[in-house]
Amino acid sequence: MSKRLFIKKDNCPQSHACPSVKVCPVGALSQVGFNAPVIDYSKCIACGKCSNFCPKKALVLGEQN
Ligand code: SF4
Repeated sequence: MSKRLFIKKDNCPQSHACPSVKVCPVGALSQVGFNAPVIDYSKCIACGKCSNFCPKKALVLGEQN
């Protein structure tokens, strides 16, 4: 079973520049305006740094069947 990153938009206040975008080591997160960040799954290595960093728990690393 592998891990996959999910965004819980309801947890994201969408009112600021997402701090997790900068902690991603591979540039897999991007943000347009103050919208919730978007995941580029072709880059994401499911390392969990962004999900650990997000204070709102809007980025969640979960199991993928
Ligand atoms: S899980 Fe890791 S690689 Fe994927 S978006 Fe978050 S910080 Fe980037």
